[in-house]
Amino acid sequence: MRCPFCGAQDTRVLDSRLANEGDQVRRRRECNACKERFTTHEVAELTLPRIIKRDGIREPFEENKLRSGMLRALEKRPVGSDDIEASINRIKQELRALGEREISAQELGEKVMKELSLLDHVAFVRFASVYRSFQDVSEFTDMIAHLQIATTEPETGVTGAAPVPQK
Ligand SMILES: [Zn+2]
Repeated sequence: MRCPFCGAQDTRVLDSRLANEGDQVRRRRECNACKERFTTHEVAELTLPRIIKRDGIREPFEENKLRSGMLRALEKRPVGSDDIEASINRIKQELRALGEREISAQELGEKVMKELSLLDHVAFVRFASVYRSFQDVSEFTDMIAHLQIATTEPETGVTGAAPVPQK
């Protein structure tokens, strides 16, 4: 890889070792041109599918992009960071479980909406209203209807006619 100091293409690996409990490979590199040393961390991002955008362009899945989108939707909402991180982890887990090399941005968007609908209704509506502009409208409304059914609280029986006590 390119040297971050002088831009030369010619760098070599001095040392590789596992880091972060084996989830990362840490490499010590040296630039053959300027002799500066630097460290890279390799993580198994390749296990997550690439995202196919509407225009057909493929992009690597970016966790930070996902997080900032969700945080924007959750701005000033009473949802804790732990819950948000748990949602992000569930989304990543689902993406890995798909075993696909590529998925559509729409498929990812649906997963995000599902998680937001569980976290916070306002955030869900915010995200959905932005997301809608990328969707076929009927497809979108079908999905909303489906999600609303899925997240509706079970009936508690209050709507049923309560027996009137006899005196
Ligand atoms: Zn260099």
